[in-house]
Amino acid sequence: MNRGRLFLISGPSGSGKDTVLKGVFKKCPEIGFSISSITRPMREGEIEGEKYNFISREKFEDMIKNDELLEHNIYVGNYYGTPKAPVDKCLNEGRDMIVEVDVNGARQIRKKVKDAVSIFIMPPSLLVLKERLSGRGTENEEAVNERITEALREIAVASDYDYIVVNDILEDAVNNVISIIKADRFKTDRQSKLINDVLNN
Ligand code: 5GP
Repeated sequence: MNRGRLFLISGPSGSGKDTVLKGVFKKCPEIGFSISSITRPMREGEIEGEKYNFISREKFEDMIKNDELLEHNIYVGNYYGTPKAPVDKCLNEGRDMIVEVDVNGARQIRKKVKDAVSIFIMPPSLLVLKERLSGRGTENEEAVNERITEALREIAVASDYDYIVVNDILEDAVNNVISIIKADRFKTDRQSKLINDVLNN
């Protein structure tokens, strides 16, 4: 069996990345999603174990010590990290996996997983990004401003990614991400087994 592909998805807070990913998983439930371990307090409406495992700083620091994370980063004062084991399991089963990380996490993973494919979800404009962030109402003004500063820093390195998908019309953004994932399945490096099968049958 060929290994699945690791897709790194980043995009600033307010790019609508979560909504795009929801649409992708709805249409492609075969793709795995990496649940991050984080130390940020849970927001209203969030469910433990759905997108994140909410853990203590002590537990997170133990995971770092025990080398259980593929990458980790401090984002606006809290730890965020990708546990290694579920990613390995999914890829070994031949399934594609989406890992949602910030730009620092993506940089760390690119160094370790050379064939990872990275996609940056871009807001259509800074104005739209600011409107989305302040309209969300989940953070106070200071936190919103910190996220805007972080967003500018993230957009500045979008050119490090293999693909950029603008999230203006949601449905288009979802379909564009799916197109990238589906096209990748036809790449030669993922079909080495097929060539042998054809020649031997
Ligand atoms: P939020 O607090 O808005 O849920 O996420 C803040 C930022 O952390 C987002 O840019 C999100 O993509 C990123 N993030 C989510 N999970 C991880 C992770 O496991 N590792 C890293 N490095 N960043 C993450």
